[in-house]
Amino acid sequence: MSANASCVDHAGVAASGPCRRCGSFLCADCLVGGHCAACVSRAAPPEPRAFGGWLILSLLTLFSLPLRFLATALKSGVELRKVDDIPASFALDPSWYVWTALGLVTDAILVGLALFALIAFLRKQKATIVRMQLFYVGVFCVNVLMTIGEAVERTASDPPVNMFGTVWPLVLPVLWINYFRTSARVKQTFLR
Ligand SMILES: [Zn+2]
Ligand SMILES: [Zn+2]
Repeated sequence: MSANASCVDHAGVAASGPCRRCGSFLCADCLVGGHCAACVSRAAPPEPRAFGGWLILSLLTLFSLPLRFLATALKSGVELRKVDDIPASFALDPSWYVWTALGLVTDAILVGLALFALIAFLRKQKATIVRMQLFYVGVFCVNVLMTIGEAVERTASDPPVNMFGTVWPLVLPVLWINYFRTSARVKQTFLR
């Protein structure tokens, strides 16, 4: 630094040193922690956005899923205990056990994925974006299995298939995956 260098922002004021990042000469008033104002603001990481919009809905889903699972598991437990009281033909029906076990296993996987996503979600970590997509892939797969299961179990006496009720659970997770891939709000919220 030459003895007569002056601050780039204050002509005539002697510079006390260069910005450590961009090298511009600045006076003592302009240097903040060895950096010029422009470099300080550029270096500061942007603050994550507050949760809002559709993210509130996905957060509620992540919270409600474990609670719903708990309720289903308790209900299955209660029904299992009543097996002695119900007709033998039902108690011996293996499909009840198969569907109940399958339901609990798939729900447990979804709860695991939801909690895995929730941990990153609450900390606004970047990992949330991938974990939420993984969660909705899980939801999609479970809904496909349920649709197949219902088709297999159908009998002629069942009411006709509700097309909206069948298609919607398959479309919804795809919409959510797309949301987490493309939303600007998602990118601005999960920065850490
Ligand atoms: Zn600078
Ligand atoms: Zn200055």
